[in-house]
Amino acid sequence: MINRDNYISIKQELDAAGVILVAVSKIKPVSDILALYELGQRDFGENYVQELAEKQPQLPADIRWHFIGHLQSNKVKYIAPFVHLIHGVDSTSTLKEINKQAIKNNRTIDCLLQVHIAQEETKFGFDENEVNTILSGDQYPNANLKGLMGMASFSDDLSLVRSEFRALKNLLTKAQSIDPAMTILSMGMSGDYRLAIEEGSTMVRIGSLLFGNRS
Ligand SMILES: *Cc1c(COP(=O)(O)O)cnc(C)c1O
Repeated sequence: MINRDNYISIKQELDAAGVILVAVSKIKPVSDILALYELGQRDFGENYVQELAEKQPQLPADIRWHFIGHLQSNKVKYIAPFVHLIHGVDSTSTLKEINKQAIKNNRTIDCLLQVHIAQEETKFGFDENEVNTILSGDQYPNANLKGLMGMASFSDDLSLVRSEFRALKNLLTKAQSIDPAMTILSMGMSGDYRLAIEEGSTMVRIGSLLFGNRS
């Protein structure tokens, strides 16, 4: 079941701020995605390759699918034909494989580099030097680098979360000076999207506020 009222108010709020809403539908049924689609939503985010590859053919072709999970190189091929934006690119080997599969599919694939901003050890991602190296290298012509993605610490400490978002925004500004095509900043989820927008997010990934808790 979708939360229609939440969707309408969040969408309005984000439209007014010029921020793109990615509705995170992982673990949720195709019927929920369709219900949100019928309210006008077109950008959906999924975390698992197999789940996305199964859902995509069952749903309208004009949905823009965002892959927001950790992507293993050997699975890129399953989403390469149709994926709209890959948010979580966190290694050069994955980037290389995305480039290869994009060429195979005779297309370019838009990508965001995931940056490690949280204090927690477990989060995937590059650091600043690695981002700069990739951007200066320009080695992957069919993997279009469009911006950065990050996840803040899972914490009640709002000043910590804010400082992590701010650091990511600063990194994007630097990245933009190397590559002006780096314009997307994917940060903010159900619990922290307002904070993320205050700190310069251009794209938020919201699941539970729209689709209910995943349990
Ligand atoms: C699950 C997930 C989200 C959405 O989380 P909610 O708290 O349900 O809004 C956003 N981004 C990523 C990377 C996720 O895995």
